[in-house]
Amino acid sequence: MNLLVVIVVHLLALAAALPTLPAGCPSIVSREEWGARSSRQIARRNPLSPFLMVHHGGIRSYCTTKEACSRIIRSYQDLHMDDRGWDDIGYSFLIGEDGNIYEGRGWDRIGAHAIKYNTNSIGVCFVGDFTDRLPEDVALQAFYKLVSCSIKMNFLPNNYTLLGHRQAKDTMCPGDSLFKEISQWPNWKNVTSN
Ligand SMILES: [Zn+2]
Repeated sequence: MNLLVVIVVHLLALAAALPTLPAGCPSIVSREEWGARSSRQIARRNPLSPFLMVHHGGIRSYCTTKEACSRIIRSYQDLHMDDRGWDDIGYSFLIGEDGNIYEGRGWDRIGAHAIKYNTNSIGVCFVGDFTDRLPEDVALQAFYKLVSCSIKMNFLPNNYTLLGHRQAKDTMCPGDSLFKEISQWPNWKNVTSN
């Protein structure tokens, strides 16, 4: 390939990773900004997801600044890649109590966050452990913004199904407090597949 082709292919890959967001979409902290390691492998999927899967990190480290959240997210990525042997951080997006949304695998890559749902869901992880308390309001607001943006971008249908990770697998995730909260939200459905 000549240089121009290489550059064009590279630009197309970047465009696929972070599509242009319509007005009303929140800004998303890119992988470069939070200091992500490169993925070992990238497997794409149809970005239209009927399911939205909620997780928590399950580790009692919390953050209220971009710097601190980035540090914790890098530790999640290390855990997923080094201890679990995955190709990358497992989630599609992460949300910190600094109110930021962080890019994980994004909308169009197969996740590694919930068995049976990795090819048809957006997996969103709240940074911290939410067994005993809810994420700060600023984080919940960021989640709602990500959802409405995903609907505008046609990555989630209006009638998407909201689930907590424990509905897909025998796990405490996303923590008792957060799970109780999301189970009050309109799109949550009482289904289990474990
Ligand atoms: Zn989980």
